[in-house]
Amino acid sequence: MTILFHEIVYGPVQSRRLGSSLGVNLLPYDGKLCSFDCIYCECGFNKDFRSRTKLPDRENVRAAMEDKLQQLQEMGVTLDVITFAGNGEPTMHPEIEGIIDDTNLLRNQYFPHTKISVLSNGLHLNRKEVFDALRKVDNPILKLDSAFDETARLIDRPNTPTYSVARQVALYKLFQGNFILQSMFLRGRFEEKIVDNTTEEEVSAWLAVVSELRPREVMIYTIARETPAKELQKAPIEVLQKIADKVEELGIPTIVAG
Ligand code: SF4
Repeated sequence: MTILFHEIVYGPVQSRRLGSSLGVNLLPYDGKLCSFDCIYCECGFNKDFRSRTKLPDRENVRAAMEDKLQQLQEMGVTLDVITFAGNGEPTMHPEIEGIIDDTNLLRNQYFPHTKISVLSNGLHLNRKEVFDALRKVDNPILKLDSAFDETARLIDRPNTPTYSVARQVALYKLFQGNFILQSMFLRGRFEEKIVDNTTEEEVSAWLAVVSELRPREVMIYTIARETPAKELQKAPIEVLQKIADKVEELGIPTIVAG
C-alpha cells in the first residue's frame, strides 16, 4: 500500500530508525513532490501522485505544529524527534529555512530535549537557504544509495541531468561530518535492468565515500513496505549487518533497519 500523509503534522509514530517521531509534511497532502523518483519510494512514483495543491505556508505549519506540541505536552507524551519527511522532499519547500527556525523555537518551548531531523535527498543543498536550514537541525539525514552515478540514477532517478555522486559528495562535505548518511540497500530488477547495490564492487565504492565523508552516523536500511517498482527485494539482514560492520571498522556508529 502506498503511504501518503494527509496532515501537516502527524503522529507521533514509532520509527525504526528514529524512535518516537512526530512527522511534519511540508508537501502536498494529496500527492507527492520530489526531485528524486526512487524506485523504492513508499509514496509511489511521482507520475502517479501529481498534485495541484499548494504547499502549506510557513504560518500554517507553525500553527499546526504548536497546536500538536501543546496537546502532546498536556498528554505527557514522550517525543524523541520531530521529523521532516512526508510526501516527498522537504527542502523543496520555499520557506524551509523560516520553518526550521519556527520549529527550533517551538521545540525549545515545549519539548527542549527532542531532536529535530530532516530526511533529505540532498539535491538542493546548493541553495544557501537549504544548506543553512539543514545546518540548524540536530539531524540532517542525507541520502546516498550508491557511489556510482549509473546505480544512483537507476535507483533514485533524480530529475536533473546535473546530478552526480561527486556533486552530492562535495555538498555533503560542507557539513564537515556533522550529518547522518542514510543509504537504502536492495536487490531486484527495474525496467529490464538488474538492481543490486549490495555487490562487493558497490559496497566497497560506497565505503570509500563513507570514509571520505566521515558522517557522524550511518543509517543502513532496506525495503519495509510495498514499493512502486514491483520486482524489488529486501537486502537480507545478514548482508546489511556485514555492511554495517565495515562502517563500524571505520569508527563510525551505524544503525541497521532490516
Ligand atoms: S527521495 Fe524520498 S521521497 Fe523522494 S522519491 Fe526518494 S524515497 Fe521518495
